[in-house]
Amino acid sequence: MGDLQARIRAFVDERDWSQYHAPRNLLLALVGEVGELVEPFQWRDDEQVTELLADEEGRSAVEAELADVFYYLLRLSDVLDVDLGSALVAKLEQNEHKYPAERARGSSAKYTAYEQ
Ligand SMILES: [Mg+2]
Repeated sequence: MGDLQARIRAFVDERDWSQYHAPRNLLLALVGEVGELVEPFQWRDDEQVTELLADEEGRSAVEAELADVFYYLLRLSDVLDVDLGSALVAKLEQNEHKYPAERARGSSAKYTAYEQ
């Protein structure tokens, strides 16, 4: 994760783009890229999505948008000085407590259903 963020930082610095990378701008860019990721899935049923992903061009388009989302997520967390890997591990640990496997397996119920 740190290596990817360092590579992005170098990419940004070489272009003097840090001046544009205020957290608000990065967040808006992230949301914009999520919207671009949504597009290929929009108005398609599961079968059509499967067909899309089996198509080389369609799959490449989805991969590119996932990468754009990941880019801005990594860049935003770097600018905010958030250790994204540690934050993810902490969140997983929280969710392991909220959703004990023995109670949550095979269920889509919200964690509050397991608290009683
Ligand atoms: Mg994009």
